[in-house]
Amino acid sequence: MNKNKKIKFIRWGLLALFLILITIQGFLHQIKGGGEAASIHALCPYGALEGLYSLIGSGTFIEKIYSGTMVLFVLTIIIALIFRRSFCGLICPFGALQEFFALLGKKIFKKSFKIPRKIDIYLRYLKYLVLLITIFYAWKTAGLWMSPYDPWAAYAHLSEGISSLIDENLVGFILLIVTIIGSILYDRFFCKYLCPMGAVYGLISKFSPYKIVKNQEKCVNCNLCTKNCPMNIDVANSNQITSAECINCQLCVLSCPKDGCLENRQVTKSLKPALTITMVIVLFFSGILISESLGIYNTLPAPIPANQTITADEIKGYMTLKEVANGLKVDIKELYEKLDIPENVPEKTRFKDVKNFIPEFSSDEAKDILGKD
Ligand code: SF4
Ligand code: SF4
Ligand code: SF4
Repeated sequence: MNKNKKIKFIRWGLLALFLILITIQGFLHQIKGGGEAASIHALCPYGALEGLYSLIGSGTFIEKIYSGTMVLFVLTIIIALIFRRSFCGLICPFGALQEFFALLGKKIFKKSFKIPRKIDIYLRYLKYLVLLITIFYAWKTAGLWMSPYDPWAAYAHLSEGISSLIDENLVGFILLIVTIIGSILYDRFFCKYLCPMGAVYGLISKFSPYKIVKNQEKCVNCNLCTKNCPMNIDVANSNQITSAECINCQLCVLSCPKDGCLENRQVTKSLKPALTITMVIVLFFSGILISESLGIYNTLPAPIPANQTITADEIKGYMTLKEVANGLKVDIKELYEKLDIPENVPEKTRFKDVKNFIPEFSSDEAKDILGKD
């Protein structure tokens, strides 16, 4: 196996690792609850963008968004400024998921399909429209407005079961299926056409000095770079890649048979693919580690002190019934009576899990009942 092929496999290995880790995290969040395991929203830079207005306007985080989410957002913006959309090509787990389904599609169909260029050009603008709409409503509602329509959130809730997803996240679940089928056929389908965060990074990447340049005299016009580009950029017929669509996956550089023909260029310095990938990943994770050591990386809600009184609106799904009773300063028996919860439901049952004992139990209705007193 030649060196470039090895780097390709290492990159896929890293993407698989990030996807597995975040999948486990999503699963842990489901079983442990938001108080003990960070939610997918708290770990998604887009959540920070949705909460930015509230943070700037009132200095508060919207629900499920914490300082760590903002740190992730800032780090990905810094990466976009220095290395263009490298977060998309080298770290993002949802991008990785699409890429792995695309590999499966190529195995099945022996090729990757392309949406006709005339349609594709216009479809690429869709993500900017999605960005405008989602930001407008997120800032208007001061909440994670997009969550029910988010395929990534649906993916993170798969462990809850399909019927629960259909009940609570139907649109997101449908979009997840569309993304998976779309990626099997068209590679990075959601990234190309729908991802609002991809739109943000694409716009910011326009200010980056980083680019991929082609040394024309070394090119043998084999077209392998274009063929291997998941974003369908015509690398073979470009002198340099500065497109907002480029996710800096390095696949064109790594597929080129002529050493030095395609080069990563940071300002005037040439960077090898392995160094580029390493720098991006080190920048991202060292940023997290440094902010964690400074105490500014938090992805969990602060625990509610035992002596603090909470309102019904402040009840979280991950709280146990006992914690809810303590927080509201009511006797646990009184809480059970008010909510018609049978005695056989353990006090350590999480608020959101009461419906496992009483199917008709609704957290929102229960909060309304408790809020009336
Ligand atoms: S475009 Fe969106 S989903 Fe795709 S890799 Fe980038 S952030 Fe992830
Ligand atoms: S141009 Fe190269 S680095 Fe950019 S997306 Fe295409 S293959 Fe990846
Ligand atoms: S893969 Fe390299 S040699 Fe082949 S067309 Fe692209 S730039 Fe030229």
